[in-house]
Amino acid sequence: MSYTFLPKLVLNWFDYHGRKSLPWQQDKSPYRVYVSEIMLQQTQVATVIPYYERFMAQFPDVFSLANAEEDSVLYLWTGLGYYNRARNLHKTAKIIAKDYLGIFPCDLDILQSLPGIGRSTAGAIMAIAFEKKAAILDGNVKRVLTRLYGITEWPGEKATHAYLWTLAEELTPDQRVADYTQAMMDIGATLCKRGQPNCLECPLQENCLAFKQGLTQSIPGSKPKKTSPLRITTFLLLKQGNQILLQKRPKAGIWAGLWSLPEITGKASSQQVREFCQKNLRCTIQKTTDIPSFIHVFSHFRLEVNPVLIEIQKTKLKLLEANQEIWYNLEQPARVGLPAPIKALLERINDESSSTLCEA
Ligand code: SF4
Repeated sequence: MSYTFLPKLVLNWFDYHGRKSLPWQQDKSPYRVYVSEIMLQQTQVATVIPYYERFMAQFPDVFSLANAEEDSVLYLWTGLGYYNRARNLHKTAKIIAKDYLGIFPCDLDILQSLPGIGRSTAGAIMAIAFEKKAAILDGNVKRVLTRLYGITEWPGEKATHAYLWTLAEELTPDQRVADYTQAMMDIGATLCKRGQPNCLECPLQENCLAFKQGLTQSIPGSKPKKTSPLRITTFLLLKQGNQILLQKRPKAGIWAGLWSLPEITGKASSQQVREFCQKNLRCTIQKTTDIPSFIHVFSHFRLEVNPVLIEIQKTKLKLLEANQEIWYNLEQPARVGLPAPIKALLERINDESSSTLCEA
């Protein structure tokens, strides 16, 4: 079915209802658009805004980001998740600063060759920052297109994904490509929502097959389910005064480069905790307290975390190199990157220590 008239409908709607006051739409530059597009991957606008504003205050241009320490970049990303985005953002800033003299390349292929920039993000930068005709296919646009065209298959399936790209490219107009791109994202985020789409307000309603056929609840199709495996770990919160021992994660793998807690694979008994501390952490335990376990969900597995608070004898533990271990002061936290569950645990320990002190 040909929908050549559709961009006009989308643009008319945008003129009245589209979002025009988002922070990255002000003082628009390729760098500002680029940072926003990376933050918006897998994250909603309302969550991104405060992170974006803090990030821009600290790193207002590509050179300030390129010259930053990785820890300060990860620190500003703490809580936003998918930390590879931050590491790739940093790597790409270094490449742009060094190889392109700080000027973002206006070229779809070059943009796609940079760390962390896929086809849709490259398309969004081309369209929004440079006003060049390029299609995007982020989660919002996928949802709009599958419903509009009544595509029942899961959009991640290879042939369906390729077909959606063909549709996205056919629909992208020659004129006002930045507004059209923003409008499609806005329709997906504000009207064509995952749970309850607001079809009555939607400019595409008359042409939307999912609406006409009452299929908005079943489109887009779901990803075929695989049971995600469960891994179990014991996190050790070694406490000396108001400080907790943190160790830097390896450069690759889960939470790469972030600061985390020493851990024992599996649910460790108190005897195992004691032996581990003596052997690996060079310290003697005074008291241990079990903290209720919780599950943290990663994209490909679930992690059962069993935290143990361990008070140790003072000053007995010598740190490894400073870039591998630190004492993290709960009251004056260092500006380092922390995985969200570790940050939550540290805040909890701090709250409980403060309330114990107050009670005492
Ligand atoms: Fe989505 Fe409803 Fe609009 Fe169709 S009519 S694109 S289902 S909001």
